[in-house]
Amino acid sequence: MKPASHRRAASRRSFEERLAARRARTVEDAKFRARQVQGKLRRFVQIRFRRDEVVEALSLRRGECNRCGACCEILFKCPFLKKHDDGTTTCGIYDDRPNQCRLYPIERRDIEDVRGTCSFYFIEKPIKLERAS
Ligand code: SF4
Ligand code: SF4
Repeated sequence: MKPASHRRAASRRSFEERLAARRARTVEDAKFRARQVQGKLRRFVQIRFRRDEVVEALSLRRGECNRCGACCEILFKCPFLKKHDDGTTTCGIYDDRPNQCRLYPIERRDIEDVRGTCSFYFIEKPIKLERAS
């Protein structure tokens, strides 16, 4: 059997490791939240003031919504979100939902705000070929 001093040292190490892991998770979580805030603000500005940019970005979007509802829980759970037993969701104000909901995701980086669970995807912007003279 290990002496009591070894057991205490091991227990202190394990406590410190757990504390470090918890701190790392807290920092990760704070970074993710900050990213979500940035994303929300970016989409707000894009939709209101940069329509052309939005139209161009959406032309590269492919796929369909799987109704996972993850985008309705960015930062907080929307009060209009309804979850169903089969894992899908519906919007309680679907016909009147804001443009920020209608247009999500606008560009590839938006998907990272829901940790990649969104089923939309984006293709690369086609390269314009110059006409040979
Ligand atoms: S209004 Fe509807 S679509 Fe928009 S976040 Fe809420 S539940 Fe989702
Ligand atoms: S995260 Fe993507 S797939 Fe899920 S509900 Fe929102 S738009 Fe649809």
